[in-house]
Amino acid sequence: MKRCLRCFQNYEENKTECPWCGFQENQQLKEPQYLSAGTVLQNRYEIGAVVGAGGFGITYAAWDRVLEQRVAIKEYMPGEFSTRTPGETRVSVYGGEKEEQYKNGRDKFYEESQRDYSGDL
Ligand SMILES: [Zn+2]
Repeated sequence: MKRCLRCFQNYEENKTECPWCGFQENQQLKEPQYLSAGTVLQNRYEIGAVVGAGGFGITYAAWDRVLEQRVAIKEYMPGEFSTRTPGETRVSVYGGEKEEQYKNGRDKFYEESQRDYSGDL
């Protein structure tokens, strides 16, 4: 059995499409700045498929190991001001003026994170 990266239900090893949500393995979006599927954050959140990506952030389907339920994780990752070394979780922020812009955006992002993103999944 393997686990779907989007809905986290188990399904048969020989299938390439999830029978529960229709997610196909080859639909997995891959960009160097995305966290790779299987990355675990805070020893709790298991990153799955990227379900959305915009100029200021990336939304992932994730599995919460404590609550044992699916959650959405939105990461502040403005491509204009920051980048990531593939395979690492740490974000690098460009220096100078861009660092200031990065921080301002991050504060707004925190405020907005109070919103409920569960509808994005
Ligand atoms: Zn699925």
